[in-house]
This record gives sequence, structure tokens and C-alpha cells, in this order.
Amino acid sequence: STSTDNTKIVLVTGASSGIGEATALRLAAEGHHVVLGARRTERLDALVARIRADGGSASAARLDVTDRDDVRAVVDRVVEEHGRLDVIVNNAGVMLLSRLDALLVEEWDRMFDVNVRGLLYGVAAVLPHFRRQGGGHVVTVASIGAHQVSPTSAVYSATKYAAWAVTEGLRQESDPSVRVTTISPGVVESELAEHISDPGAREHMVTYRRNTIPADAIGRAISFAISQPADVDVNEIIVRPAAQR
Ligand code: NDP
Repeated sequence: STSTDNTKIVLVTGASSGIGEATALRLAAEGHHVVLGARRTERLDALVARIRADGGSASAARLDVTDRDDVRAVVDRVVEEHGRLDVIVNNAGVMLLSRLDALLVEEWDRMFDVNVRGLLYGVAAVLPHFRRQGGGHVVTVASIGAHQVSPTSAVYSATKYAAWAVTEGLRQESDPSVRVTTISPGVVESELAEHISDPGAREHMVTYRRNTIPADAIGRAISFAISQPADVDVNEIIVRPAAQR
């Protein structure tokens, strides 16, 4: 456990692709035990096998972050199995870009469900354990969209401003044993843009997302934040492609 060897028990939500997958691979390679949460369990099982083949320690948990009971059950199970949960990486997210006047109201709901409620359920699930075990670390994967709005990003940005606010509020309210980090990526290689249904927004993404950086760039930032000494709290890191304006 953490107290002796700095090996942490880490739950990564949305670990079945992109940033979550890269983060899980990196943290496992650094010796942490990673619990991989997402809905596509066949992806998670393959990732667990890959991590174990590389000598790492990992397990998979089917997880829908929009289901509060599901999130609580997964977190409780991790604590039951490992005695503690040191870090939750709230990474699961969707980016369904469109102009407001396209009225894709169900997609707005979906983004709030995953990006905001999913984050809140994660926080709700870990805080009782953090209190009992005397600390822990909440990492939120927000976005550059937590800092700026552009046409088609109004609702997505709203969810990421909210994620930023929840994480900052948690920092202010917590005692020093709880650390809080927001990671705000720019354009990163992943499946994120593939789920956009609005034709105009999709088209715009082709040029906007031309310059990407690998998802491991974000994994490294998360690794940096969680490996600091207990009295150092890295509150936010913005990581963009050097070519992104
Ligand atoms: P991906 O689409 O590759 O990954 C998204 C992950 O979220 C998947 O593992 C998916 O797993 C998971 N997910 C989606 N819905 C749910 C759900 N209801 N319950 C549990 N897991 C869910 O995109 P990224 O890796 O890019 O996205 C990760 C985070 O990074 C997101 O929060 C995104 O907003 C943020 N981000 C990404 C940027 C980029 O350019 N790539 C830039 C800024 C921020 P599954 O479908 O199996 O459940």
C-alpha cells in the first residue's frame, strides 16, 4: 500500500480508449495498480492482459459513470479488495459538438450526464473512503474547453467549466490530506471526435484536430501530479500541442 512503497491503487474511468487507456498503461508501467473502468469490457480485458504481460498489475470493472449506484459499487469493491483507493482519475467523457440552434438536446443531456454527473458520482463515491483512510487524490480530466468557448462548443465547454468548478470547489473544501488536480488537454489523439453527429461540427473538427499529440502526453501529466510528495498539490496542468492556437 501507499504508506510503505508509494505504489498507489488508482481507478481510471473511461480507460477503454484514448487518454484513459494511455494513462492506465503509464501508471501501471510505473508500478501502480490500476483499475480500469468503462462500458466496453472487451477493450478493458484486452488492456488488462497487455498490462499483465508487461509485468504490471491491473483489473477491469464494467462501469457506466452515469449510474450512481454503479460508480459507488465499483469504488467500494476496489476498497474491499485492496484496502484503499488512493487516486480516482475522472476521465470518462463525451464531446458531442454542435451549434445550439441545431437543438441536439439529447446530446446536451448526454454530455451533462457523463461529463458532470459522472464526475460528481465519482467524487461522491470516493470521499467517504478518503475520510476513513486519511486522504486521497481526485484527478479530473477537463479540457481546454474549461477555459474557452467557441462556436459548437457551448454545451461541451459548459460541462468542462462545471468539471473545473467542482474540482476547484473540492480543493477549497478539503483538508490537506485530499489532493485535487485538473488536467486540461488540448487536441489529443483519441476516439473523442468520432461520436460527433452534427455534420458541420464534424467537418470543422477535421481541420481543428489536424495537429494532435499522443494520449500519453496526458498520461505523463497525470503521473507527474500523483507522484508529488504529500504536501505538494498540483492543481492544474494545461497540455496542448505546441502547434495549437
Ligand atoms: P475517447 O472517446 O477515446 O475516450 C472516452 C472514454 O470515456 C472511453 O473510454 C469511454 O469508454 C468512456 N466513457 C464514455 N461514456 C462513458 C460512460 N457513460 N461511462 C463510463 N465510461 C464512459 O476520448 P478521450 O480519451 O479523448 O477522452 C477522455 C477525456 O478527455 C474526456 O473527458 C474528454 O472530454 C477529455 N478531453 C479530450 C481531448 C482530446 O482532444 N482527445 C481534449 C480535451 C479533453 P466506453 O465507451 O467503453 O464506456
